[in-house]
Amino acid sequence: MQLQGKQLIGSSLSAEGKESFQSLNPATGEKMPTQFIHATKDELEKACELARKAFAVYRKKSGAEKAAFLEKIAEEIENTGDVLVQTACAETGLPAGRIQGERGRTTGQLRLFAQLLREGSWVNARIETALPDRQPLPRTDIRMMDRPLGPVGVFGASNFPLAFSVAGGDTASALAAGCPVIVKAHSAHPGTSELVGTAIQKAAASSGMPEGVFSMLHGSGSVIGAALVQHPAIKAIGFTGSYQGGMALFHLAANRREPIPVYAEMGSTNPVFILPGIMKEKGNEIAQQFAASVTLGVGQFCTNPGMLVAENTDSYPDFVSSLESNFRNASGGVMLTKGIQSAYQKGVAHHLEDTEVSILAEGKASEGFSAVKPVLFHTKAQAIADNAALSEEIFGPASVVVEAENKAALLHMAAQLEGHLTATVHGNPDELEAYADLIELLEQKVGRLIINGFPTGVEVCHAMMHGGPFPASSDSRSTSVGTAAIYRFTRPVSYQNFPEPLLPDELKTANPLNIWRLLNGEFQKA
Ligand code: NAP
Repeated sequence: MQLQGKQLIGSSLSAEGKESFQSLNPATGEKMPTQFIHATKDELEKACELARKAFAVYRKKSGAEKAAFLEKIAEEIENTGDVLVQTACAETGLPAGRIQGERGRTTGQLRLFAQLLREGSWVNARIETALPDRQPLPRTDIRMMDRPLGPVGVFGASNFPLAFSVAGGDTASALAAGCPVIVKAHSAHPGTSELVGTAIQKAAASSGMPEGVFSMLHGSGSVIGAALVQHPAIKAIGFTGSYQGGMALFHLAANRREPIPVYAEMGSTNPVFILPGIMKEKGNEIAQQFAASVTLGVGQFCTNPGMLVAENTDSYPDFVSSLESNFRNASGGVMLTKGIQSAYQKGVAHHLEDTEVSILAEGKASEGFSAVKPVLFHTKAQAIADNAALSEEIFGPASVVVEAENKAALLHMAAQLEGHLTATVHGNPDELEAYADLIELLEQKVGRLIINGFPTGVEVCHAMMHGGPFPASSDSRSTSVGTAAIYRFTRPVSYQNFPEPLLPDELKTANPLNIWRLLNGEFQKA
């Protein structure tokens, strides 16, 4: 299939801009053949106007209609076949198996949202029936449910070209909520974005969705991305990427005449605490799994653990030497972009500027235009306390072993951590109880706590929380993975004293959709 390099605006293709760019193969450094045209402000205006109009229709689509649309998107993505896999591999340097797995995750999450919509109870319907005889004042009938916010701007992530990009979690959750989506495609994988965007366009047409329910624009983040965030038709933003990018969008959104929420997932070091007993019992196994988790996907997951914290590691030389040998045997690989490679190298160099930091082990060098090798650092808990930059994420296969003198030093260090997506504690049953204070502390720092496991591998499900206190995310109250992500793009509306025919089906007394509702304080379907 010949890529077009154009904007997808509603059901049309558009290329009014004069500037263009080509993506690079990060393994070879070669330019990909297609010229992608930067969107103009006029094209952005068209996409936003179509989205605004589409919202009036799309917000009223039933759960079953939206579910069929999401399922059709999944089907159309599957129909892209090998071309999608080949294009994504060439643009990202990720292996075919990873892209195939990610495609399954992407279609799976679309279908999971479809199930949620068909079941219907996600709308949080609450009904308080009238109490006309209540003393001293009667109570009127009040009903409440979640309604869609309006058109959403989505910034595709570089590190998940499918699952966090054009038809990824942000788009799936916004469409499920009833919000049209305009995607600012990531400049690192525009061809992959076009293939997936075209699949959504086809699904929208064949499912009878209003034109403008989806559009996708190419171009620079600071030009077309910024204009998207500032456009009055846009009511929320979903973003995964760097702290600098996320915060730039957050400030733009906050300074609008009508400020809007920005759900930016910006990075995390995901500390892993190893307690002394388990280190003695299972040190080798944990060291091996830790090295695998750090280097998985060339360390380009937001959940790779960038920090291992343990007490008095000198007492456990076997554990440390096992960590070192696992890192020495680990391979690096090609990073997603030259920019990400250079940010990794700068991060490694920056850590080494601190005289309290040393290198414990380096992994194997790899071939390729933007290749890197794994690095394992060592430092003391006090050094982290003195230099907060040491606990910041180095995006890539690097991690730092932090040695605490004793439990008090470990707790002190944990108390100073900023927000992260996850924290992990390895311990045997007795010591996990003895370290309940650590776990309680960590609960205040992260969105997901893990016992005796590793943070990589984020399940897409109803109970997943993928987000965390700042600076991991710009809003710790919501997740960007799993079906609870839908609530980022809704707002509650109360209907007071409404005549029955005017109520949405979800709130009608007879409960025609047979959903769970909080009726006078009790969950029921009656
Ligand atoms: P990025 O630079 O934050 O870019 C992500 C998206 O936001 C791109 O579409 C980019 O546009 C746009 N953008 C960036 N800065 C912007 C600004 N000031 N105003 C408006 N839009 C802006 O992320 P990246 O390119 O994927 O990777 C760079 C670094 O981000 C990595 O080295 C890593 O540290 C971090 N990262 C973190 C995660 C995570 O899981 N949290 C994931 C990926 C990357 P352009 O197309 O113009 O670049």
